[in-house]
Amino acid sequence: MTAIPPRYLLKKIIKIVVCIIAACTGYNSKTNKKRLTILTYHSINDEINPDETVTPEEFEKQLQYIKENYKVISLEDAVEYLQTDIKKISDSIVITFDDGYSDNYHNAYPLLKKHNFPATIFLISDLIDDKGGKYLSQSQIHEMMDNNISFGSHTISHRILTGLRNEEIIGEIRDSKDILESQLGNKINSFAYPVGTRADFDDETAEIVKEYKYTCACSNVYGMNDENSDIFALKRIGIETTDCFLLFKQKLDGALNIMSCKDTKLFQELKRIF
Ligand SMILES: [Zn+2]
Repeated sequence: MTAIPPRYLLKKIIKIVVCIIAACTGYNSKTNKKRLTILTYHSINDEINPDETVTPEEFEKQLQYIKENYKVISLEDAVEYLQTDIKKISDSIVITFDDGYSDNYHNAYPLLKKHNFPATIFLISDLIDDKGGKYLSQSQIHEMMDNNISFGSHTISHRILTGLRNEEIIGEIRDSKDILESQLGNKINSFAYPVGTRADFDDETAEIVKEYKYTCACSNVYGMNDENSDIFALKRIGIETTDCFLLFKQKLDGALNIMSCKDTKLFQELKRIF
């Protein structure tokens, strides 16, 4: 088992406390199972730094739990069901990864393949085929594309869109789609906002994503989705190394969904931690 670096201990302790409070508070997980959960992962690696990384061992344990309790559907199917037949969403989970790390290929892909789970990886187009091999190569992407993994855009440079001029925002959204489509020889339909908290995208950026013919966009605003969700601001639930297994289960159950309905300062801080 990999030890948690000391700087993440406080975060882990806060999460355990919230976890215990959630366990002692009644909630109705049945209602939440009718809503769509989209999970966000980043690196799957034993070097748990930054803390948004999950170890391969934990990831495998989480996939096993998902297999026993939910069904995994593709992001594409999920978006269709949200708009046409919400009943099909029941008990479903979508698995996504941000940034396109090469450990997604080495450590996550074999496990996803073993369970026959689809997943979507959001790529930063400038970082594909990087010299250090930290990010995915085109050949790795092509191999995964043939095996149930789809790809979306996470912009060209991962700059936060709300801090950019209008032409730059358009460039990040439109050009990353064009670059990825020509490199992958496949349509790129989904988009994920860099960082993706409420401060990192707005109505204007969502409009541009729509205008350049994406069919959906994922944020990292904490929460689940239903038929009233904006498909250009889909909520996701991030999974990190500081989540103990009980907290992982609670996140899937919706025990922490209160964070997505309250917008007070305390809950805004909590959402940043989770
Ligand atoms: Zn990112």
